[in-house]
Amino acid sequence: MQFFLRKLIRYYRYKVDKSLNTEDGYQQSFLAGFFGLMGSIIAFFTALNSFVIQLYSLAICLFLVSALLLLSFLILKSSTYKRFHNLSRCIALLGLFSLGLYLIHSGGINNSGPLWIYIIPSVTFAFLGLKLGVIANGVFFVLSSILLFFPSDALLATTYSYEFKTRLMYVFLTIVALSGVYEAARYYSFMRLKSMKEKYEHQAQFDYLTLLPNRRGIQKILNKEHQQRKLSNSVSTIATLDIDKFKAINDEFGHEMGDLVLKHASKVLSECIRSQDSLARWGGEEFLLLLPDTREADAIELLESVRECVEKTPFEHDTISISITLSIGLCETSPDVDFNETIKLSDISLYRAKQAGRNTVFAYSSAL
Ligand code: GH3
Ligand code: MG
Ligand code: MG
Repeated sequence: MQFFLRKLIRYYRYKVDKSLNTEDGYQQSFLAGFFGLMGSIIAFFTALNSFVIQLYSLAICLFLVSALLLLSFLILKSSTYKRFHNLSRCIALLGLFSLGLYLIHSGGINNSGPLWIYIIPSVTFAFLGLKLGVIANGVFFVLSSILLFFPSDALLATTYSYEFKTRLMYVFLTIVALSGVYEAARYYSFMRLKSMKEKYEHQAQFDYLTLLPNRRGIQKILNKEHQQRKLSNSVSTIATLDIDKFKAINDEFGHEMGDLVLKHASKVLSECIRSQDSLARWGGEEFLLLLPDTREADAIELLESVRECVEKTPFEHDTISISITLSIGLCETSPDVDFNETIKLSDISLYRAKQAGRNTVFAYSSAL
């Protein structure tokens, strides 16, 4: 049995959960799907047992719940029916609640049926999360209390002692409280992990000094642009921008001042480019600029104005004023050419710009 369960959990984790939502609500969908599958199997075998001992109405009720839970599991694991995920959870819970109320009403086998309501709190929290889970458990508590304590047992098909009824409800409330605390702890640790993941992902993709995307960050943007370029068959231009004689700035004013100059240059560059362009710190004192939907001739014009803009905006600090100039290499790229290839070619044009005396813009076609 233990072996079978372990196999089932492993199968579920590695095969089935891949198709579930991997972002928000992933854990909830995972748990709900797992509970749905387990619940469906248990309800099916309990239904078979009830059928064998000729409790036909109970067997039918259990078969229905088993089918509902299975349906909910199948919808939850399918990404095609994502918009029905919430609905499927509600349907499965409705089935489970009806079964719980029916078991209280009928008593099940030798009045042991009501004990099944103890699975309701954890399943409800798994399906609905903390807030809705508290409400749904509260609704079930009220409905079952009405059934149990209605005057003269008018809503019951069997008889329970007063002690059994009260203990049943006390234990139910205790399990609701414990499952609620567990769900809250699970939810908050999940949210903490999520925000840590987002923070580290951000740190991995952005440069801490200039706050611009770094190599990894721009690679993501380039990949996206490459896909779009293929669809629209458009032409983009890549430019490599390098601060001239930056080492001399460091040597003269110190590394810390050099950092401030880098920050200043990034800020000026960000202000000079168009909103659709993407700027990144490619490394050291070198930047990469993606100009989507831009031909070489337009890019040269645009980058000439960027070069002028940086030249005209020196870095000022106390009494110090440091002029910055840029050498810029650029290369146009078509949808069938890889961006990495284009970056290499724009680097060659940058090298030519440096050779031509710096503070200038060089296109790859004119560097040939
Ligand atoms: P060129 O005009 O040929 O580009 O000359 P350059 O001095 O700008 O180029 P070089 O490659 O010789 O030197 C780049 C310098 O940039 C060396 C390195 O210490 C400095 N540098 C790189 N990253 C940083 C940084 O984050 N902060 C500071 N302050 N300096 C940096
Ligand atoms: Mg340089
Ligand atoms: Mg350099």
